[in-house]
Amino acid sequence: MNIPFTNLPRLVIIGGGFAGVALARKMIKEDVQLVVLDRHNYHTFQPLLYQVSTSSLEPDSIAYPLRKIVKRGKNTFFRMAEVLSIDPDTQKVSTNIGDISYDYLVIATGARTNFFGNKTIEHNAMRMKNLPQALNLRSLMLENLEQAVITEDHEKRKELLRFALAGAGPTGVELAGGIAELKLNVLPRDYPDMNFDDMEIHLIEGASRILPPMSEHASEKATKFLEKLGVHIHLNTQVTQYEDNLVSTNTDLSFKTATFIWSAGVTGAPVSGIKAESLIPRANRYKVNQFNQIDGYDTIFAIGDISVMETKEYPKGHPMVAQPAIQQGKHLAKNLKQHLRGKPMTPFQYFDKGSMATIGRNKAVVDIGKFKFGGFFAWFIWMFIHLWFLIGFRNRFITLFNWSYNYINYDKAARLIVRSYKNRTDTTERV
Ligand SMILES: Cc1cc2nc3c(=O)[nH]c(=O)nc-3n(C[C@H](O)[C@H](O)[C@H](O)COP(=O)(O)OP(=O)(O)OC[C@H]3O[C@@H](n4cnc5c(N)ncnc54)[C@H](O)[C@@H]3O)c2cc1C
Repeated sequence: MNIPFTNLPRLVIIGGGFAGVALARKMIKEDVQLVVLDRHNYHTFQPLLYQVSTSSLEPDSIAYPLRKIVKRGKNTFFRMAEVLSIDPDTQKVSTNIGDISYDYLVIATGARTNFFGNKTIEHNAMRMKNLPQALNLRSLMLENLEQAVITEDHEKRKELLRFALAGAGPTGVELAGGIAELKLNVLPRDYPDMNFDDMEIHLIEGASRILPPMSEHASEKATKFLEKLGVHIHLNTQVTQYEDNLVSTNTDLSFKTATFIWSAGVTGAPVSGIKAESLIPRANRYKVNQFNQIDGYDTIFAIGDISVMETKEYPKGHPMVAQPAIQQGKHLAKNLKQHLRGKPMTPFQYFDKGSMATIGRNKAVVDIGKFKFGGFFAWFIWMFIHLWFLIGFRNRFITLFNWSYNYINYDKAARLIVRSYKNRTDTTERV
């Protein structure tokens, strides 16, 4: 890989997600040669992916060029590369654009969609873990609407207008709410000749309530909000198959839909080369100590979704959300600086800032410690926090503008089929 040789220790970060970016930003001015590798040349703000899928935001508003983040330092480099493997013995990382050696390596590769080995779902379901996938979903939904408006077969039209989501965690709930808002406020004006009573949204959840990681209060409120928006919620139900547009479950629920979205789980996205004992097999994530060092390695660290730090408070590791990733990235920067100065590292402590989910216009639920609330105020907080954590003034400004425009006009700006999903030539899905 074309990176100049210097006498500085080289720190290689794999992954420019929340964790990798938090670390990189803090190491830019340090006496290290910093190299960030990512398969995309941008950072993705995943919590707003569903707004790209539901045509509320353009993809550019939730992405930020990784080069812009690293360009601020003298000894910092970004390379767009798919990391293939690591060799801890020779301290080398192999990528599709060549090899690179490291003195310190940080793995921040996050997670990917987990299909739990179900092949029909993996082959046929839509997923939403990155921007290309979010755009695929946007295209498919809009293409189905275009087909629905010209079909004369009523059953076929209903199949095209039926949307199903498996998994009612924050992603499934937010996406179901977003599609319901489209149905209520936007689509009837776009397709005045279509009867939107035919459009159905089904949210299917294996547990006994939606938003299982949040409080019961949040779950009850979100259920009410979604039902008010006309979403059909099916609890204690697991999707077993999705083939030829037919959703089958472990109950008697079964129906045909042209849009089936899998939001029922994630698994780590490890890189090969780290010894098997350091990987937790059921989770595909690296076991790390309180300094984020991977079990058995002094100079290889893992942060964010890919790491599991078992503590008394979090025996199964921290939740796979943005805050632990950001906090671990920042903390590791402090520890690396300490280490470079010959000082001892300090253990990571997670500060839980709470969790939230939005269900649509004026509707969100928030759990912050003992405080659990929902409605307009929660929605306002949700918007403020998401704007705050978006990277880049331009992205914040455009997102705020779009949200205000949507709010005032009951409209969504980005209902565009820029590239067809149905007629795509590349059928390989990006992980
Ligand atoms: C749809 C969705 C909604 C979410 N909503 C919320 C929310 O509302 N609140 C919240 O707190 N969290 C939310 N999350 C979770 C949150 O986004 C993740 O916990 C967070 O992104 C984890 O950060 P990370 O840095 O560990 O990984 P990521 O942000 O996933 O970054 C990993 C990076 O590594 C790169 N990469 C991976 N493998 C390779 C490889 N082999 N070679 C090169 N590059 C590689 C990827 O391209 C990516 O840029 C959501 C996630 C999704 C998918």
